Amino acid sequence: SEGAGWVELREPDVILEEPTGPQPVVAVVGRPNVGKSTLVNRIIGRRQAVVEDVPGVTRDRVPYDAQWNGRSFTVVDTGGWEPDAKDRAAAIAAQAETAVVTADVVLFVVDSMVGSTDVDEAAVKMLRRSAKPVILVANKADNTAIEMEATSLWSLGLGEPFPVSALHGRGSGDLLDAILAALPEAPAIVENRPRGPRRVALVGRPNVGKSSLLNRFSGEERAVVDSVAGTTVDPVDSLVDIGGQTWQLVDTAGLRKRVGKASGTEYYASLRTAGAIEAAEVAVVLLDASEPISEQDQRILTMVTEAGRALVIAFNKWDLVDADRRYYLDKEIDRELRRIPWAIRLNLSAMTGRAVDKLAPALNKALASWETRVPTAHLNQWLTALVQATPHPVRGGRAPRILFATQAGVAPPRFVLFTTGPLDAGYQRFVERKLREEFGYEGSPIEISVRPRK
Ligand code: GDP
Ligand code: GDP
Repeated sequence: SEGAGWVELREPDVILEEPTGPQPVVAVVGRPNVGKSTLVNRIIGRRQAVVEDVPGVTRDRVPYDAQWNGRSFTVVDTGGWEPDAKDRAAAIAAQAETAVVTADVVLFVVDSMVGSTDVDEAAVKMLRRSAKPVILVANKADNTAIEMEATSLWSLGLGEPFPVSALHGRGSGDLLDAILAALPEAPAIVENRPRGPRRVALVGRPNVGKSSLLNRFSGEERAVVDSVAGTTVDPVDSLVDIGGQTWQLVDTAGLRKRVGKASGTEYYASLRTAGAIEAAEVAVVLLDASEPISEQDQRILTMVTEAGRALVIAFNKWDLVDADRRYYLDKEIDRELRRIPWAIRLNLSAMTGRAVDKLAPALNKALASWETRVPTAHLNQWLTALVQATPHPVRGGRAPRILFATQAGVAPPRFVLFTTGPLDAGYQRFVERKLREEFGYEGSPIEISVRPRK
């Protein structure tokens, strides 16, 4: 299509329509007419959500951005929720369930003037199953008398009811404080966080060329005491320039003094390697491309994956590899490294300088994957489609279902799948593979744990 004047028309990406970003999501759930829209208006502080005075009026799941005391979050308004509802109500119910699944905190809204109904009690069961923090909002508590009435809502078993008048604003400050308290911790990775150089470990068995590669950078090496705002550099580390960027090369002393070799024992060398990996964010494992991958190489790779560090594998001495052999070597390497197909691989030569300039981009890519956070809404949209297309195989007449997923952390990305039962190891690997296909994570391990519902 190049130069042919084509304008490529694409389906808009779902993620673009979900302004949830990395910020936490608060879903507002409750029967029709309890005042959800009015409450959302109150929380976002502007008259934007349309309030319809007709019971059961369908609204689409609409996310709004909200702020309180310096924290941002997304509020998702939902239509009413009625269990076993038909047609339109069923659609609303499905929406509310999705909202709950994708939320970090749920506001369950009840009408204080009406008290709790059967529908409310059924909703409470659904909310309990979701294992999400739930804040019970006793809305329409317009005066002290109704506020007192609202205490009877303790009987719902959701803890303390928050009496609020969404219409008049009464109690909304306390409610917002409670929301903030229930929100997950602010994400560990904050954009523009001032930070020091990234920590990289250069590891590999003796004679693969670590010192030689280090010498490629040593021209730009600075004093160990070089101070970078707010960071301390371990005395055995160095600040080196790789690709125009300053990196903290962990345990450079070990590389230079060749402690491993001097001490003569593989044991101490291996301890030192493990220590460097642990201290680093990303590891460059150097292999000798002119020799087969050894058990010791594999052990070092395992150290990196088990420590959960980002990984770049550099095949050094590529200058010694015959052009004819390169193709077969690549296949061989694929086989040897099939348990870590996601590692970034480089073929370089410390001696000739071949591809050495590819190291910094590879490190940055691996680190970016390592710190990727997928918005909960996007993750679950993807998961719902995946599970629909390829459900878990039936075992003994039953198949566990994946209810929803959350990303529990970054560096490396960690996911929790909430399920109705334990998953087959094969299916779990399938989910991991698909997760990687969708979200990348090139150069980073990821962890998936399964939490079957009790
Ligand atoms: P939703 O269907 O749950 O979203 O409910 P709405 O926000 O559309 O509100 C339903 C009706 O309850 C509207 O007439 C609102 O004006 C009214 N309402 C909402 N909040 C309050 C409140 O705090 N006090 C009183 N008295 N009425 C309210
Ligand atoms: P270390 O023990 O991992 O630090 O390895 P060294 O840097 O001491 O290198 C071991 C040997 O491999 C030395 O003789 C180096 O000259 C040689 N060497 C290192 N890199 C290369 C390379 O890219 N190509 C070739 N042909 N030899 C290399």
